[in-house]
Amino acid sequence: MNTRASAWLFARRNLLTLCIALVLAGLVPNLSAAQSAPTQPAPSSQAAQASSQPASAQAYSLPPDKLAKAITLGHISTALDIIGSLWGMAVLWLLLASRWAAGLAAWAESVSRRRWLQGLLFFAVFLFITTLAGLPLDAIGHVVSRHYGISVQGWGSWLEDLGKGLCLSVLFGAPVLLLFNWIVRVSPRRYWMWIWLVSLPLIVLSVFASPLLDPIFNKFEPLTKTHSALVAKLETVVARTGTHIAPDRMFLMKASAKSNGLNAYVTGIGATKRFVMWDTATDRLPDDEILFIFGHESGHYVLNHIPQELSGMAAGLFFVFWACAGFAGRLARRFGVRWQLGDPYSGFIPLASRQGFVVLLFALSVAGFILQPAGNTFSRHFEHEADVYGQEAIHGLVADPQKTAVSAFNHLGEAWLEDPNPSPFIEFWEYNHPSVQTRANFAAHYDPWANGGRGRFFDR
Ligand SMILES: [Zn+2]
Repeated sequence: MNTRASAWLFARRNLLTLCIALVLAGLVPNLSAAQSAPTQPAPSSQAAQASSQPASAQAYSLPPDKLAKAITLGHISTALDIIGSLWGMAVLWLLLASRWAAGLAAWAESVSRRRWLQGLLFFAVFLFITTLAGLPLDAIGHVVSRHYGISVQGWGSWLEDLGKGLCLSVLFGAPVLLLFNWIVRVSPRRYWMWIWLVSLPLIVLSVFASPLLDPIFNKFEPLTKTHSALVAKLETVVARTGTHIAPDRMFLMKASAKSNGLNAYVTGIGATKRFVMWDTATDRLPDDEILFIFGHESGHYVLNHIPQELSGMAAGLFFVFWACAGFAGRLARRFGVRWQLGDPYSGFIPLASRQGFVVLLFALSVAGFILQPAGNTFSRHFEHEADVYGQEAIHGLVADPQKTAVSAFNHLGEAWLEDPNPSPFIEFWEYNHPSVQTRANFAAHYDPWANGGRGRFFDR
């Protein structure tokens, strides 16, 4: 997404609602990106190629005043993203090195005799403190987003969202962390494999539940309520793609209360699967462009991107948990005494104590940061496929699919102030969508039916 500052906050908030909060902190964003993979601006591997073209050949451009803002905003967002990740790791390290985590565990033990209650208390306070530690950066992100006119959310509402996110995080995250912590205790050697196994259904459950929790943060209503004519047009895309997205699975999100950005996404799984359109997009984009965006999102459905991402993630997590267990074990041996990790309850197995579990979370946050480009590379691949699919899906339904797609990308890019030429390295590392420039350039030149050819997904 473009306004990565605001997109970043948005993702974090979703992440919180995804309950496994910290454990999967670095990994889930990719999932949510593909899952809610909006047609927002984001980066790509071919950007280097795009940026080497002369400016006049670029399909996405901004007027000079917005261009300057977009470039500055891009730099700030990148800095905030990277600082945010490093700060997240630093906070965990500091909690351990200052023995604050050990102190918290001792305090929780003094409060109750029940082990599970001690654990819940420990992890609830832990989640509260780590959220609080991230607050200044979150606030800076919000200041930036408001300054550039992307967010229009007031501070009261912003704080309210933060509070709700924290409550959900504690409500769902603390029990999950307690469960994982217990697994380490009962299986000190193979715990990483059990945690992996248990996390699989939890991930599926979180994807399932995500649309049910979204109304806590934003207002939704059936798209047909105010846009029945548009829904009728969307049905023509549904018929062409064979997706069976019923009109009652199409929702309008009242995003304009908080944002000037444009977005649409698919989310949920099974009974909660749905298409969501931001009201900013329905208010400001021509219907043809909405059809294209809908075609893109339909592509995520038809091409099974959510199950594919989930299974890819499941496979990846197996190795991540294995590697993190090894890394955390080394840290515990090295610093166990200094950080006061052992306690009698855990049989003095450093990682099995409450504070020892924080070492594991630290290892996972490092892995999440390092693996971010890998997850994003997969995500960009899926997004590109969905772009191809979307453009083919509107063939025959709109006058000029190429023009429609290029215009839609320009609108999205301008709304989010996407830098037309982001650094290829930043794209590689941070972008979960190809850059708007890459996407627009591709769209401008993609016409598989020229000279009697066939589309990749549609014959006609
Ligand atoms: Zn997408």
